[in-house]
Amino acid sequence: MRVTTALNRMLAIAGATVARIVFTPQGIVIGLRRRAKKLQCPACGLRTRAAYDRSVRRWRHLDLGASRLWLEAEVRRLHCRRCDRVLTEEVPWARPGARHTRDVEDLVAWCAKRMDKTTVARLLRVSWEAVARIVTRVVAEAIDDYRLDELYRIGVDEISYRSEHRYLTVVADHDRGGAVVWAAEGKDAATLGSFFAELGEERTSILQAVTLDMGAAYIKAVEDAKRLLGLRATVAFDPFHVVRLANEAVDKARRWAWNEARRSGDAGARWVKRARWALVKDPGRLSTSQRLTLEELRKTGSVLYRAWQLKEGLREVYRMAVFGVAASQQFLDRWLAWACRSRIPSFVRLSKTIRKHRKGILAAIELGLSNSKLEGLNSKIRLINHRGYGHHSAKALIAMIYLCCGGITVELPTGR
Ligand SMILES: [Zn+2]
Repeated sequence: MRVTTALNRMLAIAGATVARIVFTPQGIVIGLRRRAKKLQCPACGLRTRAAYDRSVRRWRHLDLGASRLWLEAEVRRLHCRRCDRVLTEEVPWARPGARHTRDVEDLVAWCAKRMDKTTVARLLRVSWEAVARIVTRVVAEAIDDYRLDELYRIGVDEISYRSEHRYLTVVADHDRGGAVVWAAEGKDAATLGSFFAELGEERTSILQAVTLDMGAAYIKAVEDAKRLLGLRATVAFDPFHVVRLANEAVDKARRWAWNEARRSGDAGARWVKRARWALVKDPGRLSTSQRLTLEELRKTGSVLYRAWQLKEGLREVYRMAVFGVAASQQFLDRWLAWACRSRIPSFVRLSKTIRKHRKGILAAIELGLSNSKLEGLNSKIRLINHRGYGHHSAKALIAMIYLCCGGITVELPTGR
């Protein structure tokens, strides 16, 4: 069997045959002969015989043994009469503008979904920049263009990346298991506003529910969308954020109590400092010593025990949901009265916030919606960031978020 025949069988490149093989210091170069004689405009599909000009291009292909393998072929440009532009023809084995074949790009994307960037770059002998470019290109091709159509229930959340001061706004579809359908840099009203603008009036008007944290920026964007784009969706405040605020209030109460105790020279100050985890952890998951700490706080009539009760009381509002939203509502109203009379500054403040957002909090219970999937997303995105994909640019990170959390499947070249 001839070498070219063997390579033809091994590589099975669509639309071309192996014409020659050359060993170079950079690796093995496979010269391809194209089957198609006619050129086709990549924009409109018009076919023509006339080439505008020709050039030879190389694409990195899957390694052959330990050697780098390159495909080399002539690529023609054509002047399309219909588009009135000079365009480069497409080749079946590579995406437009790519320097790697489809197989290599799919392999890189498949690995990027599972490994850190350094490992991918080292394993497949591609640069960091190439990994980012490839992910962006694969995602652009694989992403569902209709993902913004027929959205009914969405969740919006902010996600910090790189440093604490950089944020993305992420929109997920509750009805598709929390798949990310949109993401952009920033976390202000304008960021979410641009999502609604992209959605347009028709698609905005069919939205039924939007879950949010209680931050002013997203609320403003939603109010604007109601006014300008006919948004009629129920606004629901995510339980996770509500409970987190209660945890923060406990922590603030602890610091407040510590300062108070120190000022009065109370020896109990030590206790207050150590009590942190006992106070904020789920009671079911407390260690024995943490349970004893809590018990000690209860026996001594500590203000921190009341703070803890208030926090757990707010969580109880959600547990009451099994008895119907009316039960939750009753419990919430009792909680509000209790918290605002508590004389613990952080809980008095929290009660004001909760009262202001009462309707949306109850709406979340009624609709049974939470951003818990989005919160899972939050840690997933932090992981992507840790694996080295968030350092380059927000754009690259967003591409990775679509790849890992947007419901995109990438097939391995060996799996086809
Ligand atoms: Zn054309």
